[in-house]
Amino acid sequence: MKGGMQRWSLTLPRLADHAAAWHGEEQIVTRNDDGSITRTNWAAVRDRAQRLAAALTDLGVGRGDRVATLAWNGARHLEAWFAITGAGAITHTINPRLYLKDIAYICDHAGSRILFIDPQFVPLVEEIAADLPQIEHIVILGPRSSIPEGRSDLLSHDELVDGYDPIGWAEIDEEDGAALCYTSGTTGRPKGVLYSHRSNFLHAYAAASPDGFDISSRTTILPIVPMYHANAWGLPYVAAAVGAKLVFNGASFDPAVLLDLIRSEEVILAGAVPTLWRTMLDIAERDGKGFGKLEEALCGGAAAPSALIEAYERDHAIRFTHAWGMTELSPIGTVGRPTAAVLRLPAEEQQRIKRKQGRPLAGIELKLRDGQGAEVPHDGESPGNLLVRGVWVVKRYFGADQDATDSEGWFDTGDIATLDRHGYMQIVDRAKDVIKSGGEWISSVALEDAALRLNGIADAAAIGVPHPRWDERPMLIVVLRQGVRLSATEITAHLSGHMAKWWLPDEIRYVDSIPRTATGKIDKIALRRAFAGLEPAA
Ligand code: AMP
Repeated sequence: MKGGMQRWSLTLPRLADHAAAWHGEEQIVTRNDDGSITRTNWAAVRDRAQRLAAALTDLGVGRGDRVATLAWNGARHLEAWFAITGAGAITHTINPRLYLKDIAYICDHAGSRILFIDPQFVPLVEEIAADLPQIEHIVILGPRSSIPEGRSDLLSHDELVDGYDPIGWAEIDEEDGAALCYTSGTTGRPKGVLYSHRSNFLHAYAAASPDGFDISSRTTILPIVPMYHANAWGLPYVAAAVGAKLVFNGASFDPAVLLDLIRSEEVILAGAVPTLWRTMLDIAERDGKGFGKLEEALCGGAAAPSALIEAYERDHAIRFTHAWGMTELSPIGTVGRPTAAVLRLPAEEQQRIKRKQGRPLAGIELKLRDGQGAEVPHDGESPGNLLVRGVWVVKRYFGADQDATDSEGWFDTGDIATLDRHGYMQIVDRAKDVIKSGGEWISSVALEDAALRLNGIADAAAIGVPHPRWDERPMLIVVLRQGVRLSATEITAHLSGHMAKWWLPDEIRYVDSIPRTATGKIDKIALRRAFAGLEPAA
């Protein structure tokens, strides 16, 4: 027998409706390239999104069409998101930091018909124009005056908005595709993950919950994480669902600018990859002016070093929350908040748990499996392949002809992890990055974490280097803080206090900076390429 309740479709424009109706005056703040600030609010964003949806419909955009965006975080980008989904189409966000050929491939593979871009990307798009045969219109996220002279073929976002009346949203089903994101594609071609309205809607609810990101209408949010990276961890949808103030940093990822925004806009919660939290911390410690009203530092995308977590919590009384996710999960899988049982543990043990990536939110199932397919115990020690299943987990990549899951619906994340008796998951490594020494595994993540506990080390990466006897042996690559000198012997002596002897790197290399991918992860492929063929010291 069916339930007797209404079927109210879980569609994303309804989140904008809620924010406009009940939190209409709450601000959406954008930092522009020249440093000026533009303010709008949820009522205006929703009104303009409806006008833009009408314009898109007039341009022939319909249900299931893909409309791409190549843009930094900003209010117009947000309007475009709601307009595209509100017209029944799919918002296809593209990472402008990718190689041009990947941008063209992704755009073409998605079959996107319209492309929204920030004014600064006009030259980029010109370069790949020949590889974008399916794009019918390019819309510049700005007024007519932001369009270069002689480019009357380009449309203006503001002109489209001003030229139409708000006519409401298109007919949408909650199972319809809403947002399309491509994986960063470190191996093989980037793969598209098509989130549905329902999956994003429920993800927003779970993310907002206290054991998730703990966000309410009182939480001013700065999602430093870009809107093209797994929908900025879903934060814009969470903000709409609860009617929170949103602050966008535009094109600037300068830690001084970000810190300035945190202070001046009284940001309560921000989300970023570990490197940005580290560089912001360096500045705050140098100028001694703190983090304003910041209460919560959300960190994900790569393992947060324990020294970083401790510095925020101990020295600045800011909750540093470690979360794990991936594009295939839109993206949140786990969040590291203490349960009541954990709060009863001794402080030292709580600290150890704090470093882990956390527990699954309702809607996500997790398990560990070994190479033979057997379940791995949840003892906090035994590593296994991390599998996920749930409401917002990919079933089949966009355009693929087979499912990405096994017959029971489990998706293999490609991560190796442990699960402890309290339900906390800890990432040991990416399966392809773990260092295989003499048939045993060495966690490159743990090596990096231990290295970063040494004050003079500003950045660190560990990779496996081929070895004739052990298969691979660890090499540690470090960036020293300015003015610091640390010998390999000193670094090794420090590391030996944190790990078994056979984990210690055979070789330590000094570099000026560690290369990172377009999504802020250590570029281990580049490092392996740069250091390939080097025989580790005996
Ligand atoms: P992406 O799809 O670009 O978001 O990358 C997802 C991958 O990033 C995951 O499979 C992990 O390998 C890694 N990752 C994300 N969050 C964390 C975290 N908190 N700690 C360690 N690795 C992470």
